[in-house]
Amino acid sequence: MRKYQRCTRCVMDTSDTMISFDENGVCDHCKNFEKRIKPNLKPQENKLEELEAISKGIRKAGKGKEYDCILGLSGGVDSSYLAYVAKEIMHLRPLIYVVDTGWNLNVAVENIEKIVKGLNLDMYTDVVNWKEMADLQLSYFKAQVPFQDAPQDHAIFASLYNYATKNHIKYVLTGSNQSTEFVRPPLEFMPLNDLRLLKDIHKKFGKRKLSTFPMCGIFKYRLLYRYIYGMKRVFPLDYVVYDKENAEKLLHDRFGWTRYENKHYENVFTRFYEGYYLVNKFGYDTRKNVLSSQILAGMISREEALNILSKNTYDPEQIEQDKEYIAKKLGIKKEEFDKIIVGEKKSWKDYKNVMKLILLGAKICKLFGIESRNLR
Ligand SMILES: [Zn+2]
Repeated sequence: MRKYQRCTRCVMDTSDTMISFDENGVCDHCKNFEKRIKPNLKPQENKLEELEAISKGIRKAGKGKEYDCILGLSGGVDSSYLAYVAKEIMHLRPLIYVVDTGWNLNVAVENIEKIVKGLNLDMYTDVVNWKEMADLQLSYFKAQVPFQDAPQDHAIFASLYNYATKNHIKYVLTGSNQSTEFVRPPLEFMPLNDLRLLKDIHKKFGKRKLSTFPMCGIFKYRLLYRYIYGMKRVFPLDYVVYDKENAEKLLHDRFGWTRYENKHYENVFTRFYEGYYLVNKFGYDTRKNVLSSQILAGMISREEALNILSKNTYDPEQIEQDKEYIAKKLGIKKEEFDKIIVGEKKSWKDYKNVMKLILLGAKICKLFGIESRNLR
């Protein structure tokens, strides 16, 4: 077992099993930030000019069409603020795309409605077949892997991309942004989009055919959609001042949007997965990479971050309630669910996968500066 160590600059530690430290105890995420990300951070005024140039291109390409771009809205702060930026700053005509995986919290659904109404936008909702969703999610639990959010993530991503391609919407706006995501969660806990892995896990543990479940593999996404259909991803939040607290305040004041605890907690499943399952079974707390990014961005101090980490991920009573709710919804007894949770730890290496290929692709992206965060 490796000796426990925590970075002296950020709050990443040896729960990221491949982390390395220099003689001063600074981790490789911080080194990567200094070397590759910081020098490329552009001053604000240039960015707004660049954003306007991008917006112009999108508006021009979308002339005469019903929508000039599409954006996935979860009701969280990133995507909600993105919708605001798209309409009010970029003057675009986005189609708001919502994927209902069956787990959305009421507060998220209400936020979506408020944003769509407040900005006077059109919305399309794709409801994923619940029986297939549940079968796949239960398969993942039985597979004992860390990344329990993969079925949801995949459905959301694939649904939107497939829809956009089918309807000839070329531009996809995404709420991912460098200002809050300098440090990636370790790949062992959050692998990239691997459809082979998903299919193998389902083949081994699933009971029902996935006939309507949205799917989009790395080849379709990277090659077919991007190079044949000319689909383009745009990251508007990298071009505006994106301070989460101010964004939340603006959304609240203008649309009556409500904030909720933690970045991805708009969803009962994600809340339980990140706030309990991953922490308890695999010892990884996703708040570490989020807080580390904020430290590197100069938004909070290391002490503040450590203080946050010393507190519970979320209310223990709520955790028990969520556990019961999820077990019931997935159609298993709570005892069975508990057994799965304390069972043997597995990784993507235990199943068929194309991670080698995906990692190679990611390395190439890094080489060309498309991805600048640490991937490993
Ligand atoms: Zn560090």
